[in-house]
Amino acid sequence: MSETIREGGCGCGHVRYRVHGEPMMVHNCHCHLCQQQTGSTSVVNLFIESDRVEVLSGDFTEHTVKTGSGKDHILVRCSQCGVCVFSYYARLGKLAYAVRAGTLDDPGSVTPDVVIFTESKMPWVPLPEGIPHFAQYYDFREVLPQASNARLMALAERRKAGEG
Ligand SMILES: [Zn+2]
Ligand SMILES: [Zn+2]
Repeated sequence: MSETIREGGCGCGHVRYRVHGEPMMVHNCHCHLCQQQTGSTSVVNLFIESDRVEVLSGDFTEHTVKTGSGKDHILVRCSQCGVCVFSYYARLGKLAYAVRAGTLDDPGSVTPDVVIFTESKMPWVPLPEGIPHFAQYYDFREVLPQASNARLMALAERRKAGEG
């Protein structure tokens, strides 16, 4: 089977990127921080090894915000128009990117594996049927396929060895 390729970019066309293969997981997060950072109901993030994200053009500025638990969350924005296309977290560092699904050319080509932080969702937003949802966070091992857990573990080992 040939590898899935997805492309996307920022709002001005300066940044273009290509994602090789399927993500480890896709989160639809309704936490208030994601609402604040997007100005919207929630964010949809594809989590994937950063070496599977090929930057075709453009350059970036990085901006640090905090996660709910107070750790760093770095937003990677187009240097020209400021649209956030990726972000990464302290735990795996730059080994894994959260690619913002709304910046894909075909955002409908990914479906969330989980809907999280539903406790803070805007009250009029319905929950999708058939997708597990959690009031806050969830346990990867219980929800994600074995292959995704193995990829996450591999990144965690590399991070422990000082990469990223
Ligand atoms: Zn741009
Ligand atoms: Zn969130």
